[in-house]
Amino acid sequence: MRVLISGASIAGPVLAYWLSKYRFEVTVVERAPSPRKTGGHAVDLFRPAMQVVGKMGLREVVRSKVTGTDTLVMRRGNAKPVTVDLRKVYTAASDDHVEIMRDHLAEILYDATSREAEYVFADSITSISADGEVTFEHGPPRRFDVIVGADGLHSNVRSLTFGPEASFTTWLGTYVSVVSVPNYLGLNGAMEGIGQAGRIAAIYSAAHMDDARALFLFRTPEPLDYHYRDVVRQKQLLRQRFAGMGWEVPRLLAAAEETETFYFDSITQLRLDTWSRGRVTLVGDAGYCPGPVVGGSTSLAVVGAYILAGELARYAPDYHAAFAAYEREIGDYVRRSRGFAAGAANMLVPASEFHLWAIVRAAQLIDALPAWAGRALAKFNAKTIRLHDAIELEDYTTRQATS
Ligand SMILES: Cc1cc2nc3c(=O)[nH]c(=O)nc-3n(C[C@H](O)[C@H](O)[C@H](O)COP(=O)(O)OP(=O)(O)OC[C@H]3O[C@@H](n4cnc5c(N)ncnc54)[C@H](O)[C@@H]3O)c2cc1C
Repeated sequence: MRVLISGASIAGPVLAYWLSKYRFEVTVVERAPSPRKTGGHAVDLFRPAMQVVGKMGLREVVRSKVTGTDTLVMRRGNAKPVTVDLRKVYTAASDDHVEIMRDHLAEILYDATSREAEYVFADSITSISADGEVTFEHGPPRRFDVIVGADGLHSNVRSLTFGPEASFTTWLGTYVSVVSVPNYLGLNGAMEGIGQAGRIAAIYSAAHMDDARALFLFRTPEPLDYHYRDVVRQKQLLRQRFAGMGWEVPRLLAAAEETETFYFDSITQLRLDTWSRGRVTLVGDAGYCPGPVVGGSTSLAVVGAYILAGELARYAPDYHAAFAAYEREIGDYVRRSRGFAAGAANMLVPASEFHLWAIVRAAQLIDALPAWAGRALAKFNAKTIRLHDAIELEDYTTRQATS
């Protein structure tokens, strides 16, 4: 069977890996001009995603690229800065967690798949017909049995298949901006930040990275009015929201004016009831992003891709049956992630000074516990903090290719 995947970041290459293993003919089309290598933001792989990475033989190479950002130093008003050992927080959340820069992970996944799958860069799908004929912005039309959107929160395949994005998105009340800045504080293994009611600014660097990332998170009572391509307006909004904030914020805002890599978006959750229509399906953020920054969506993307490939191999050539099985398998994880993300969005950018104090205090308390006690406490509630580790994966890898 011939499968076309749109998007070569995380979900796309994981899917390409497994489908190639099951002997499907795989093509990946990516809008960016070349494979991702540096930049992006830090993402999390929790236990089930690390199990998939392990089955792909990539555990060691992924571990060799961890960010190493183990400490958070947080300022609040005139109070003494609070230091939190993030390793204890992660240990409470998962028995097997890795934080890695998104583009480092994408590069590892691309390298692991580029020989078996065909990659086409600098192109994008323009139409998909019911019989599988696909047209592109640049390349000639081609025919595929299955088409998969792995093209992120603002998925092109989803728009072409299900209609405008606004019908499926729920804004979680917050905005995020990530900006590449020089590592002028010489950060090594630490994130430093400042919080006030409704806004947080921070800077972190990571191992294997020459520069740093400034991170801005803020709440607004109503959605902001801007076009997603209007970077000048986005920078203006950022300046307005962080005006008058002390510490390093004026310098970070000045750096945001200069930078070439500027990201600004609402924290938005996707809520589709089904991810498949005809011969098209969606995987990762394209289908079920619970909200960037707040829901562990990278783990969901890795696990979703692994399950989709496994079900396609199980049912090939009946992709209808495969899509139905995929949706059944991943559905519960998606719904739990949505619930978790909605709560996390509130925690991430506290609305009041008291809420901010309570969250910093809770992190300090976890920090003060021995690791085993933090884990034991967290295990009482697998639906929240140990959401990811509660997922049990089927072992599809013993299955032989049927395509
Ligand atoms: C600021 C920020 C912070 C985040 N922090 C975290 C975190 O702390 N922990 C965590 O787990 N996750 C985090 N995430 C989420 C994480 O980045 C995503 O969940 C993950 O990257 C999803 O992978 P994906 O492959 O589904 O989509 P994406 O990584 O979004 O990749 C989509 C790919 O599709 C390509 N594409 C887009 N349009 C087209 C098109 N028309 N044609 C072809 N290709 C196209 C894109 O160029 C991209 O390569 C964060 C996200 C953001 C934005």
